[in-house]
Amino acid sequence: MTVKLLAGNEVLLEQEYYSVGGGFIEWKGYTPPKKNTPKYPFRTMKELRAHADNNKMTIAQVILANEMSIAGRTEDEVNAFVDKIINAMVATVKSGLSMSEDDVLPGPIKLHSKAATVYKRAMDDANVADRGIAMLSACALAASEENARGHLVITAPTGGSAGVMPSLVYGLSEVRKLPQQKIRDGMLAAAGIGYLCKHHATLSAAEGGCQAEIGVASSMAAALIATAFDAESRVVENAAESALEHHLGMTCDPVAGYVQVPCIERCAFGAVKAWIAFMIATNEIASRHRVDLDTTITTLAQTGRDMGAKYKETSEAGLAANLVLC
Ligand code: SF4
Repeated sequence: MTVKLLAGNEVLLEQEYYSVGGGFIEWKGYTPPKKNTPKYPFRTMKELRAHADNNKMTIAQVILANEMSIAGRTEDEVNAFVDKIINAMVATVKSGLSMSEDDVLPGPIKLHSKAATVYKRAMDDANVADRGIAMLSACALAASEENARGHLVITAPTGGSAGVMPSLVYGLSEVRKLPQQKIRDGMLAAAGIGYLCKHHATLSAAEGGCQAEIGVASSMAAALIATAFDAESRVVENAAESALEHHLGMTCDPVAGYVQVPCIERCAFGAVKAWIAFMIATNEIASRHRVDLDTTITTLAQTGRDMGAKYKETSEAGLAANLVLC
């Protein structure tokens, strides 16, 4: 994308930007920031957990130490950066929930937003369990609908999956009222999961289908919840694994090329699945969990490679091919 600042026909400033996938933006003349070596190098979840367990640290503490050494930042600086992301996530959910129930999202689908309606009805629900699931869904819908409006979006890990993590961050901080440090720790653990998925598989729907977007977001969110509730490293891994495992094979076919159908509701499902993964991981006997995260990430990569090209962000198959828009 080329952005030009014009004064009449005169170009005052011009900049060429590239979306290089996974939510990252680069520009012409971009030089990547200088990076130092990590304090605790790891390539796999097994190695990450070994650092944590051998040094009596949490996964979040390992990621924090690495972030400080790689970027040359202090703990306060890393916390300030993480807080900025947390605050933006909460803000995007609040903004999405505040939209009118009659709001129609931009684009040819003429999709009505539903976050505010689902949230309002959730609050009226007498059944507490139903209220929790509906509220989590509403928050994910809210943040995802903000993406569809072209408003503030936090790619965690991508724009299409931008409702998943904010939903859980909002739920844990604004509803469960967990201390900020717990949310920060959860964010750091989630970043570790995202890093592993990016490096051994992909975060790009064009490469891996929706399993690489919503699946990874759900896996990151499961790690966030487990960490925020002080789960041990094995349980954090199990939660992340379970959430990712149950998105394997999910294709990407946004209707009319807009990140709305199925994307917006998919964020709600990703958020709820993250909570289910956390519930199972914290209630099972952790050592009996048979599938490790590294194996599931390898499977994500292989499944992405095997997936037919038309199921990877082309809008040429699936719902995009079958849904008739009138
Ligand atoms: S269907 Fe495609 S565009 Fe939509 S959220 Fe999934 S990966 Fe992203």
